[in-house]
Amino acid sequence: MECQELRRDELAGKYLNQQLDPTAQDEFEVHVLECANCLRHVEVVQALRQELFESARRVHTAGIQSNCKTKRRNSFFLLEAEWEDNG
Ligand SMILES: [Zn+2]
Repeated sequence: MECQELRRDELAGKYLNQQLDPTAQDEFEVHVLECANCLRHVEVVQALRQELFESARRVHTAGIQSNCKTKRRNSFFLLEAEWEDNG
């Protein structure tokens, strides 16, 4: 697999979300082992996400969550309804 400079963001993001197909996932994993640039990029994206996750959790545990929860549940159901339409 070539080092695809331009798609590195996308690949690293999808890799961490496990959205790549299994072949691409494997190839990217192998590539990351050989490519310090990509490895670093994956680490950066991962650290960034961890940070976002942590701050989101802090907001939730901070207290104002009841309204937020309802909103999230509504959008989740909307999403589900869309999926059912597609299937
Ligand atoms: Zn690379």
